[in-house]
Amino acid sequence: MEFDEAGDPGDLIDRRGEGGLGASGGGLGGLAGVILGGMLAGRRRKAGGGMGMMLLLIVGFLVMRSCGAGGFDLGAMSGLDQLPGLPGATPGQQLPATGNPTEVGGDDPQAADVSFANAVVTDANDVWSEQFRVSGQRYNRTKIVLFSGGVNSGCGAATAAVGPFYCPADSLVYLDLTFWDELANRFGAGGDFAQAYVIAHEVGHHVQNELGISSQVRKIEEEDPEAATGADGLSVRVELQADCLAGVWAHTTYERKLLDEGDIEEAMAAAQAVGDDTIQRSTVGRVRPDTFTHGSAEQRRSWFRRGFKSGSSEDCDTFSAETLED
Ligand SMILES: [Zn+2]
Repeated sequence: MEFDEAGDPGDLIDRRGEGGLGASGGGLGGLAGVILGGMLAGRRRKAGGGMGMMLLLIVGFLVMRSCGAGGFDLGAMSGLDQLPGLPGATPGQQLPATGNPTEVGGDDPQAADVSFANAVVTDANDVWSEQFRVSGQRYNRTKIVLFSGGVNSGCGAATAAVGPFYCPADSLVYLDLTFWDELANRFGAGGDFAQAYVIAHEVGHHVQNELGISSQVRKIEEEDPEAATGADGLSVRVELQADCLAGVWAHTTYERKLLDEGDIEEAMAAAQAVGDDTIQRSTVGRVRPDTFTHGSAEQRRSWFRRGFKSGSSEDCDTFSAETLED
């Protein structure tokens, strides 16, 4: 894809040199630990009233829809890639500072990736700002935090092993650029628009957060933890909605003639490659839909495509969808 470079600094925070711990930013993780601790305690509460909450969520979604002058409306949520619940992330726990931060600057071997990530997140923020404005709602921009190895997020400490993620507590997207190698080599999804899809998916979680979908889902899950799980549970619905929202953003890049031949195929290949069934097949050798958290390859591809084709977030209501299949 062909992008103008985002203005410096754009919507990017470069923490690659911090070796996993901001010496000055340690407070955030501690605070998040308190918040997360509360949420986790909530999860252990007795389940009950789950259906009522589900109803509320759907109604809330429809209200937002009817308010949207231009038809924009979604709610929000957060994923691989949303904390809490991220495998590999330890809420409230700080990563040890490394005495030897990676030197960044000068000849930065990742300079092109940094610039591209900045351009995508800045552009996606611009697009969502406008869509929120048209529907009479306010949008607070997210930023992408680049880190190397590990990072203390508002959702606790996380290592690069968790992959890119969005933290609703601090409203930031986190990315270790080495994930692009994994995406290309392990998942077989290379190309710049595959990367753009991943970033746009995370920004999609931010959109869900801004719209209040994330907090509504969290509430339902606290009441009824089982509501989150399963092949058509809330977790999968949240993730597929973020894919659809990434597609809505991609639609605008198409309209602005930013796409190169093959870009959308790259994005759809990436969405397919990170499907739960694809990953389970390659890691544990069998597919268990009841343990899905993000949706199958076909579902992820098709919800991205749906958003891309329509360009309207109204078509991303995975919560009301009777079937998550195409
Ligand atoms: Zn996600």
